[in-house]
Amino acid sequence: MEYRKQTVRAVKPGGLRALVRADFNVPVADGAITDDTRIVATLPTIRLLIERGARVILMSHLGRPKGGPDKKHTLRPVAERLASLLGRPVAFAPDCVGPEAESRARPLGEGDVLLLENLRFHAEEEANDPAFARKLASLGELYVNDAFGTAHRAHASTEGVPRVLRPAVAGLLMERELEYLGRALDRPARPFVAVLGGAKISGKIDVLNALLERVDRLLIGGAMMFTFRRAQGRPTGRSLVEEDRVEMARAVLARAAERSSEIVLPVDCVASGATDGSAPGRVVALDSLGKDDIGVDVGPGTVMLFAEKLSGARTIFWNGPMGIFEVPAFAAGTLGVARAIADAGGGGAVTVVGGGDSVAAVQETGLADRFTHISTGGGAALEFLEGKVLPGVAILDDAPAA
Ligand code: ADP
Ligand code: MG
Repeated sequence: MEYRKQTVRAVKPGGLRALVRADFNVPVADGAITDDTRIVATLPTIRLLIERGARVILMSHLGRPKGGPDKKHTLRPVAERLASLLGRPVAFAPDCVGPEAESRARPLGEGDVLLLENLRFHAEEEANDPAFARKLASLGELYVNDAFGTAHRAHASTEGVPRVLRPAVAGLLMERELEYLGRALDRPARPFVAVLGGAKISGKIDVLNALLERVDRLLIGGAMMFTFRRAQGRPTGRSLVEEDRVEMARAVLARAAERSSEIVLPVDCVASGATDGSAPGRVVALDSLGKDDIGVDVGPGTVMLFAEKLSGARTIFWNGPMGIFEVPAFAAGTLGVARAIADAGGGGAVTVVGGGDSVAAVQETGLADRFTHISTGGGAALEFLEGKVLPGVAILDDAPAA
């Protein structure tokens, strides 16, 4: 489904208290932020609001705190990092609702920024409690959602607040996510090629089926290739096979043949005696995989084959690493395919990557700036591609008909 939503560019936020749902769910170790990608990704929206004289109130969750406030999950370090990125002070409220929040929201001047403490310190956030949502909503006069990564969840800050606070618009990051993922869904430039990998078919069967209906070609790597190989009656050694999904893989192959969309499976793999890098890997043709071999990555022949199948594509969507890329010795397939996608992008393809591990892999390879769009929301991106309604997006104001 393609969403046409009103965006923050269309509203006049000057003087208004803009309540912004951001995704500041960043990795923190010993109180220090180890990766600020998500904070940086929200800067354009925050800067736009500042420039237009809004009184900016930011809210987010961080991690999965259990039953109330705890030091480990405080957003305070985010306020500090944000202040240094913006080059201006960012006030911090030690609670997201109630007197602590209200007393800090009240004196905000135009262009001032306030960050509220972790929404999930209140169980009412994930329960989408209406009274809690009203308390949050009372802080603002305009709602902006820039947290695509949580848009597939109907929580108080993503769904409850915009129920009662209007205008409710998409931030610039959200707009970008909807534009690129929506376009891939509804009017992709063709050929449209998808690359799927990762650990399990089970978590990806819906997206697999959804993509199958839309793409011209589907390349399959990662562990899920072995479930497909099993479905074809081929040897899989000790590779990760989901026995209870073999039938599903067989159905996918049959469906593809029916639709004459092409499914491309690897021709070789890196085989090892262990998945953790403690045993060496060697390249083998898939048909000669031994009974004790574990397939841990796609092989160089597959990278070449995939590169060929990707060249000339006009739209590429990628989710799921090609192998156990966390182990450097088994990362070559993922890196090679990432490079092939980036090259196709250089040749004019719109290239979109989504999924937590896939995005991490792209960032590690240093190829990130050669992709058209790197989705910040793994689960949300997949649910979007599956055609599911994202409650946090659906509730936003529709853009006026063009
Ligand atoms: P994403 O987060 O991008 O959606 P997934 O979570 O589905 O991706 O899959 C990532 C995981 O898949 C990685 O931890 C990787 O080690 C694992 N994986 C990829 N190939 C294999 C393989 N051949 N055997 C076992 N695990 C694999
Ligand atoms: Mg993952």
